[in-house]
Amino acid sequence: MKFVIISGNPKTSGLCRSITDEIIRGAKESDANVQEISTNDMTYCRVCGDGWGTCLKENKCSFGDDGFTTAQETLRQADAVAIVTPVYWAEVTESLKNFLDRFRRCEQSVFANLIIDSKKLELDDTFDFACNRCGVCCRDRDDIVITPHDAFNITKNLNLPSREFFEKYCEIHQGYNSKLPVVTLRPGDYRKSCRFLSKSGCSIHKLKPSVCKIYPLGRAIDANGDHSKILYFLQDTQCYKGSHSQTIREWLGSFDILREESIFIEYSSWLIDICKTLEEYGVFSNRSSESMKNSVYTALVHVMYLDYDWEKDFLSQFRANTQKLASIFEQAAILTALEQGGDTVVIAPQSESGV
Ligand code: SF4
Ligand code: SF4
Repeated sequence: MKFVIISGNPKTSGLCRSITDEIIRGAKESDANVQEISTNDMTYCRVCGDGWGTCLKENKCSFGDDGFTTAQETLRQADAVAIVTPVYWAEVTESLKNFLDRFRRCEQSVFANLIIDSKKLELDDTFDFACNRCGVCCRDRDDIVITPHDAFNITKNLNLPSREFFEKYCEIHQGYNSKLPVVTLRPGDYRKSCRFLSKSGCSIHKLKPSVCKIYPLGRAIDANGDHSKILYFLQDTQCYKGSHSQTIREWLGSFDILREESIFIEYSSWLIDICKTLEEYGVFSNRSSESMKNSVYTALVHVMYLDYDWEKDFLSQFRANTQKLASIFEQAAILTALEQGGDTVVIAPQSESGV
């Protein structure tokens, strides 16, 4: 067994040192392979670039030669971990906090993939769940994401102008990492309930967003793997779980979600590609001007959410919209302007009804 002690203790004697020594003694007596990581000589997170450095994509810190990279690897291989720290004003020591911050940054995507991997389900796998319409999953939620296809379906079928839908029911913000517009349902004041939640349940039951339709399942596409395969997984739920057993296929079939899989795959693949393109062109980097960032962001909002005609099919319009965006990015003039950090090129939104 590999047993790791992370010590944030700056002193070489005293109570914390005695505790650490006792843990080491006990672990050795149990034949464990014990390693101690001292965080005292390690540096702090510089919050590189626009907020993230190599930790985000490469899972390692650019300043790891202060002992952090070795400690990170040791911790990855541990079977059990103990943390020892003095407590200063209800907080761990500064060096331990710094270490944990860097470790969290470097491991976050690895950890997310591990969670998905451990919960991954195939279409014919079964799970136990029965909805009793308690509404728990519709309260205290500010993470109900609306995809462009959801927005198209809801606004078209409720005959609700897009602007009214986004202003009244949604919040739109810029994704921290992706920099893309992210639309979520805005919770109401009462118990932060969804505005579509009525006494008898969801008032847009048949039209509800896809994340609600598939709940308690989640789905994702592996950005580094096969983009044509959807990964389904079971989320932890706070609500009544019931004991009805069904396959993933049966659950998704009840909302006709399987017929819409191709839209999810195409949309998710586009998201992965556009994130790479934005990064490649440095559109939202420090060398791009504010007016450039605003213009591109506005164009993205239009392309993704606003420029649709209810009389026409969603997917063909999405394709046409995203192609227009691709051609905008391909203009050499933009590349040149970005390289020079200039702000002379303005990407015009496709209509004037911006959110
Ligand atoms: S963890 Fe390291 S690479 Fe990431 S932002 Fe902090 S200092 Fe930079
Ligand atoms: S849209 Fe319906 S199912 Fe989704 S959170 Fe709102 S009330 Fe609940």
